[in-house]
Amino acid sequence: MDKTSPPKSSIKREVFLYSALLALIVMAVFGFFLSSLLYYSEIAKARSVINRTNYAQALFIDGYFTEIIHTIKVLEENKEIREAMASGEETRQRILDGYRSIRQTNKNITFIYSGYENGLMLINDYTPPAGFDPTTRPWYRAAMAIKPETSIGLPYQEIKTNEWLVSTSRALKQPDGRYGGVVAIDCSIDQVVHLIAQHDEYRTEFSFIMDRSGGIIMHPDQSILDKSIQEIKDAIQQNSKGDLTYSTGNVEYFAHYNSILSTGWTIVTVVEKREILRPIFLQVLFLIGLTGVIAVFLGFAQSILLSRRLSRPLVELSRKIKAIISGDELDADEYVYPNNEIGIMAREIGQLAENELNARSRELQASEETYKAILMASPDDITIADLSGRIIMVSEAAGKMFGYDVEEGPGMSVMDFIVPEEHERAHANIMRMLQENYPGPNEYRAIRKDKSCFDIEVNNALIHDRQGNPIQMVLIARDITNRKKEEQQIQELVHQLELERDLAQSNSLTDSLTGLPNRRFFDNALQVEFLRHKRSGSPWSLIMIDVDHFKKYNDHYGHIAGDDCLRQIAHTLKAVVKRGPDILARYGGEEFVVILPDTNTQGAAVLAGRIGEAVLRLALPHAQSDISEFVTISLGVATVMEHVMTDGAQLVALADQALYQAKKGGRNRYEVWPASI
Ligand code: GH3
Ligand code: MG
Ligand code: MG
Repeated sequence: MDKTSPPKSSIKREVFLYSALLALIVMAVFGFFLSSLLYYSEIAKARSVINRTNYAQALFIDGYFTEIIHTIKVLEENKEIREAMASGEETRQRILDGYRSIRQTNKNITFIYSGYENGLMLINDYTPPAGFDPTTRPWYRAAMAIKPETSIGLPYQEIKTNEWLVSTSRALKQPDGRYGGVVAIDCSIDQVVHLIAQHDEYRTEFSFIMDRSGGIIMHPDQSILDKSIQEIKDAIQQNSKGDLTYSTGNVEYFAHYNSILSTGWTIVTVVEKREILRPIFLQVLFLIGLTGVIAVFLGFAQSILLSRRLSRPLVELSRKIKAIISGDELDADEYVYPNNEIGIMAREIGQLAENELNARSRELQASEETYKAILMASPDDITIADLSGRIIMVSEAAGKMFGYDVEEGPGMSVMDFIVPEEHERAHANIMRMLQENYPGPNEYRAIRKDKSCFDIEVNNALIHDRQGNPIQMVLIARDITNRKKEEQQIQELVHQLELERDLAQSNSLTDSLTGLPNRRFFDNALQVEFLRHKRSGSPWSLIMIDVDHFKKYNDHYGHIAGDDCLRQIAHTLKAVVKRGPDILARYGGEEFVVILPDTNTQGAAVLAGRIGEAVLRLALPHAQSDISEFVTISLGVATVMEHVMTDGAQLVALADQALYQAKKGGRNRYEVWPASI
């Protein structure tokens, strides 16, 4: 029976939790460093991609414009072009031919032309409208504004072809030192525009170009053209190394810029920050998930490993001790304890418990053998049965009493020894014993093997286990056939006595002089009391009474007075001996006797004293007595236990001896037998 409640926690679970927690912490720290590393490496990678793209684009654009600027410089240095205002048609035609051939050698060049302050415009395949004034055109003004440097204007889209073009122009110095014209090349920058919109590794990657003043002149998004970004302008001014971060609206960018030497522009390459950070974020998330899974796995692995080494020995030990306590068989193929501290401890405790069990079972065996020996030696019928009444063991005496061999008893039911009519009462008595610990005695009609019947008296007791629960019962049966017979005899005698007593009241059993029961009645009563006391074993007493010097009384007062004196004494005795079971009788002549059932010496002596005093108090004159002026009596008291006697008359003889002593001692007294009491 397992009374212990199951443990609230287990080592296995705790090991799992702590291991998982530890692994989680380790993995979290590790994950943090890994995430940081990832973050910085991703940022570095992004930076490198931006830088590379930016640098490559800067180089390309620089190379592209270096050629144009060089060409325009060569044209500006040409004397014929510079002074075309003063030259004739032939020279002008030659200039136009020159323009045409340059355009043919460089695919990027769309137009080459020069305009002059007098309205002259030298351009191939184009007829300026009437009133056309080159000096009002942006390319002319830009060149004049920046002279003697080369001006590179804003990109624009050709209306007819949709081609992106940019005008490069330079002022032309006249012989008088004034600037009177401008030579310009319109070249396609489709390649450049295409280039800056391109993205490499990042979807959000693009580039844009700012002019010297910080205004955006080329951008994949047309709406941003001519605007400027203050953060970039500030960074350029602070001469930073090219890396920067800025934001427009809600969008944050990583950016890098480079200068394009030939044009003085700045090219900026950007990537949206969130595009760089998103994969990092996802990877960190993945790492966290992975960390959790690894932590659980590690916790699980450790808990299996550690529980095998730590908790399993304890579980096995507890199982073993439980088995020992409940008396179950121990496993034959025993668990092998691990060779660590816990394993060694558990093994030793288990061994200890096993030794204790062995010692206990040896003790039990010894005590079982002892009580078996006692059982066999006992003269009584002792039966040990389980609570259902199935017999486990019987004494030899029991076997004899019921006519069986001792070996036949075990396995039979206690009911097999009782007549069927009494089974119900026997069951009820067993229940009473279990519920109230009722020990009996109970009387039954028993049945022997040969089917003969006899009477038994059964006393019982319960045997308890260590927890105090009853496990077996002990039944002690006694053959009470003789006692029953005796009881019946007594019953018969008592009945007879009662009849005779009734009769005596009218005749033979009553003394006619005193009205007391006579000697015959006394003899019967003595026999009945003897049997009764023999059975109960309790002490009983007898008082013999004799009138002192009664012969002299008769002689002096006459026989009639003598009779009257006896009557008065009898009356007094009747008044003093008034306890129910006491029997007062006239024993004979001037002698009386009192039987005192269940009375010891002291009780009898006290009564004897009272009787003597009462007679004296009667104050019957006795002139011839030499001991008193009144009539006195002497008393002899005897007390005895039944087992020393074989006959009631023995008690009378003993009382007589005591009476003799009283007479001898001077009369008017009582003496007790034996004299020493
Ligand atoms: P002790 O003190 O030694 O007993 O002296 P005692 O005279 O009493 O001696 P004992 O017992 O020998 O005498 C008994 C006498 O009692 C004898 C007899 O005369 C007398 N007696 C016996 N029965 C009766 C009776 O029924 N009526 C009368 N009146 N006298 C009786
Ligand atoms: Mg006498
Ligand atoms: Mg006498």
